[in-house]
This record gives sequence, structure tokens and C-alpha cells, in this order.
Amino acid sequence: MTELQRCLLCQKQEKLQKSHIIPKFAYSWHQKTGQGPLRGSTAPNKRIQDGYKDFLMCKNCENILSKWEKSFCENIFTPYQNNTDVSVFSYKDWLLKFSTSLSWRVLNIITPAVKLFQNDIQKASDIWRKFLLDEIPHPAEFQQHIILLDLIEKETFPIQTSFINRYLLTACDFDIFTNNKNNICTYTKIFKFIFIGIIATDNHRCWKINKINANHGRIATKHIYNNMPIELWKFIESKACLMQESSKKISTIQQKSITENISKNPKQYIESIGFKSALTDYQQHKDKQ
Ligand SMILES: [Zn+2]
Repeated sequence: MTELQRCLLCQKQEKLQKSHIIPKFAYSWHQKTGQGPLRGSTAPNKRIQDGYKDFLMCKNCENILSKWEKSFCENIFTPYQNNTDVSVFSYKDWLLKFSTSLSWRVLNIITPAVKLFQNDIQKASDIWRKFLLDEIPHPAEFQQHIILLDLIEKETFPIQTSFINRYLLTACDFDIFTNNKNNICTYTKIFKFIFIGIIATDNHRCWKINKINANHGRIATKHIYNNMPIELWKFIESKACLMQESSKKISTIQQKSITENISKNPKQYIESIGFKSALTDYQQHKDKQ
């Protein structure tokens, strides 16, 4: 008999499923692009076939989340990843649910290790959980923000790493972002998208970028980097530096496997975002020397 455990979302005693943190559609999209297996930015020799998973929820709760994942995937993720020339996306109530579900998952995976902000974390987790279950109409001050990323083709400000475009466009990542004793957010990155879930902030005004509304709204894809809080940009830059460091650790065997994979369909690789971001990074780095 399978052991029952408490589902973190509905809190019933159920058989728990292994839940994705970054939804499966992201990995499926990546596999179809011919860019080869996704690799962890801190463990580059390890292929990430299907993303990080953990026992969080029962099947019923998984199904609730999957409806919002499907809406986001069809309406925003796939068109934007595939580089259609859309500059504004419209959304409905599913976007706030989807973003909150990501933030809630990240919070439950990472924050047991975070010692500060325990009261805020508990409150945000509870409010997000209730919002996902339709017990409250919106997540109050625990807002969600979405940022749509694009290539930085020309640096208009100094950038510390030659991997910035590769991190911005090709990495999946989740973490807790905290810049001082008053600010803490969840950070979920799915290729060209960043989702921020505010847990505590002393300055709601600096988080004016693409706040997600409860019922409907529009997201602009322009002027992304100008409107980003500087602390968040520094956090992103530090992640790109880590990616650069770990790229030096790719083994000869893995390098050979990457080359073989590209040679199977070079045309598809040249058109991929992975190639474009690496090329843009290379050109900018070369200009600096
Ligand atoms: Zn459940």
C-alpha cells in the first residue's frame, strides 16, 4: 500500500506525485528545438532531461495547476520563445494563477533553508496557497511580476560577463532573491521569462515592472532592462557569471557529445536561440578586446 502524505496545496492526506518546479512544457519545447540536452548551469556535465521534481502535491492539485500551465504555454510561452514579432501579449486570470503556482512551488522547495524572513515566508506561502485554491480573490501584497527577456545586442551599460545573453535566453533556474534585510522574492526563470513573487519589500514602487493583474492585462516586451530594479539586474548578472564559470568545467566527453548533436542538424542549430545568444555574446566580447 502506498503511504499517504499531506499534500502541501490542499493539505489532505493523499498519495503525492513528483511535481515539476519548472513545468514540463518548457523542457519539451527545448527538446524540439534541436539545441541538445539542457545542462545545469552549476553542473554542466549533467544533462537535465525533465527538470527538478519533488513530492509536493496530490494528483488532483497537479491537475489544477496544469490548466494554467497550458494557457500560459499556448498564449505566451510558445509564441515568444519562437520569436514571433509580438510586442504586447494579452492575458486573462490564468497568468496570475500560473505565476503564483511557480512562486509557491519555489517557496516550498527553497525556503526551508532560508533562516531570515520566516514570518513573511509563512504568510506568503499561505496567501499563495489560498489564492491557488480560489479561497481568496488575489494574493494581496504578495504580488507577482513577469519579465519577458530578449537579446542584449548592444550594451548600453557595463556588463560583467560574456555569458549574459546565454543566461538570459537559454537558462532555466529558480532561487530566492534577497538583497538586504527588507527585500525577499521568489525567482523563477524559464528560458525567456522571469517570474518574481514578492514575499517582502520595503519599496513596492521599484517593482512596477509588469505586475500581473488578477483578471486580465497586457505585457509589453519592450524596455525590459531599463525598468528592472538594479538589485535584480545584479542578481541576474551574478547568475550569468556562475554559468560562465561552470562552462569551463564541461568535460571533453560532454563537449564531443554536444558537437555530435549539433552535427545531426546544423541548420536547426544555427537558427536556435542557443546559437544566437552565444554568437551575440561572442561578438560583444570580441569588441571589448
Ligand atoms: Zn492536493
